[in-house]
Amino acid sequence: MKIKDILSQGKPTLSFEVFPPKTEDKYESVEQAASEIAKLKPAFMSVTYGAGGGTSQYTVDIASALHHQHHVTALAHLTCVTSTKEKVHQVLGELKEAGIENVLALRGDMPTDAPAKTEYHYASELIREIKEAGDFCIGAACYPEGHVESVSKTIDMDYLKQKVEAGCDFVTTQMFFDNNILYNYLYRIREKGITVPVVAGIMPVTNVKQIIRSCQLSGTYLPSRFKAIVDRFGDNPAAMKQAGIAYATEQIIDLIANGVNAIHVYSMNKPDVALKIKENLSEIL
Ligand code: FAD
Repeated sequence: MKIKDILSQGKPTLSFEVFPPKTEDKYESVEQAASEIAKLKPAFMSVTYGAGGGTSQYTVDIASALHHQHHVTALAHLTCVTSTKEKVHQVLGELKEAGIENVLALRGDMPTDAPAKTEYHYASELIREIKEAGDFCIGAACYPEGHVESVSKTIDMDYLKQKVEAGCDFVTTQMFFDNNILYNYLYRIREKGITVPVVAGIMPVTNVKQIIRSCQLSGTYLPSRFKAIVDRFGDNPAAMKQAGIAYATEQIIDLIANGVNAIHVYSMNKPDVALKIKENLSEIL
């Protein structure tokens, strides 16, 4: 099923994300985690794309297993900045062959040792190509706090509009820990005339070190309420996990209460985290 059709139903939806293994020997454990998360019957599941494209086959294979074996709508991520056009079209062909209808089109992070000349510069170019390549439902990334490389949020929003005009059907946000940032962003996005559904990306924090680094790199704001949790429970992994899941659950409940229906949980190959969040919302979703 196409994700734009799921989102257009106007009901609250919960979706989860998994990332592919880096090496073949880890494939089975990732596939197992994906299958356990699939049992929670999410609205859809996304499978990220390894930077550089070296693990693209795993993204396709896991998305395919979700679709065929677990009957869950799959969203395959695809990045372009380190890729050739030939490689992009090869992956699109594999996705089509596997019956995957949804692609999240991304530029990808710029490699520090970037080649002087790449065939792609921005996600909008990839979106245009996917649009021409077949009947895919296309998603794109968006940044409530502005993309880290962007000189201003206004300019970042101009480029988001370009992605939508290039043919993307929905956008998924980067993680955020203060819902007011999202509400403000939604207001600005609609003012800009961008009307595609916005899927709110929620990160349940279980690994403090990883998340602090990732927030520093992406410029994500950490509210003092969140910092207090990290200060108090950061050294106790089990307590931090419980608090991280509770914090994410509260964010989700507040979002749904305020009419933000599409919730995507960055579940990071952790079925137990996905399960707890689903259980916490059992009367809500
Ligand atoms: P773009 O939309 O191309 O934007 C990149 C930067 O260029 C922005 O600063 C933008 O303002 C600017 N820009 C855009 N168009 C133009 C233009 N025409 N002229 C000048 N400037 C322009 N990474 C992975 O490697 N694998 C994944 O699976 C993955 N999944 C993600 C999922 C989500 C929901 C999100 C939010 C991010 C994900 N990322 C992933 C990270 C993403 O690849 C990086 O954030 C990357 O740096 C930007 O990708 P983009 O598609 O948003 O780029």
